[in-house]
Amino acid sequence: MATTTTLSMKLLIDTKKNRVLFAEADKDVVDFLFSLLALPVATIVGKLGKESMCGSFGNLYASVENLDYKLVLPGAEKKALLQPTIVPSAATTSTSSLLLPAPSSERPKSFFKCSRYYNSICYEYVTDSSRASCPNCGTKMTRALRYVPPPAADGTGGGQSVQMGSSTGGATAKGFVQGVVTYTVRDNLMVTSMSTISSISLLNTLAVTDFAALQEKTVQLGHTEGLRILKASLQSNTVLTDVFLSKKRPRRCA
Ligand SMILES: [Zn+2]
Repeated sequence: MATTTTLSMKLLIDTKKNRVLFAEADKDVVDFLFSLLALPVATIVGKLGKESMCGSFGNLYASVENLDYKLVLPGAEKKALLQPTIVPSAATTSTSSLLLPAPSSERPKSFFKCSRYYNSICYEYVTDSSRASCPNCGTKMTRALRYVPPPAADGTGGGQSVQMGSSTGGATAKGFVQGVVTYTVRDNLMVTSMSTISSISLLNTLAVTDFAALQEKTVQLGHTEGLRILKASLQSNTVLTDVFLSKKRPRRCA
């Protein structure tokens, strides 16, 4: 159910020059954009594909992928570098995390022990890597255990007595920016709070003279558009135009 999250924003388009002047966006869109700053580089490479990365991070990523396991220290995992754990950022909310994997509650954690279950000391050891060896008997800890998620935060029978943030009604706002304000997102992703005067002066700054050529268009912002925004923001100063108006294939790296 969390996979179909879609945000929307309103673009102001100069149809003559085929460019987005700016977008009117709410808190959710801005939180999404700001949350991009907190993505680990390897996550970005993984999401966009190492071949499509500008610069050399794609090569670093491929080098780790291709590295012989014999060269990796025991206990170290390639996965830790290639698919780093994403620590929620200040801007992260359920809607701003369009690009992230499903919440951990939907991805069961894996735990392992050794298979000597007749030995009571072995019972004390558990690991999250099936490559680990049991400190007691030395055998590989490959026997999978079943993970039991904690009860829901507002669950009826849950034993959780202390809650972060207080009430379940959402007294504590999620994300990073205030929700009561509408924001202006420029084509180059400069984000400011919006006012009528600022919009007019922005049109002035953008040297808009032909107001008849201006057109409003509401666009959806889902996982696909989120990825394209991420990609364009690494390569371009005209992100919204590239993602929402450009019919040609995304530009190649310089
Ligand atoms: Zn053991």
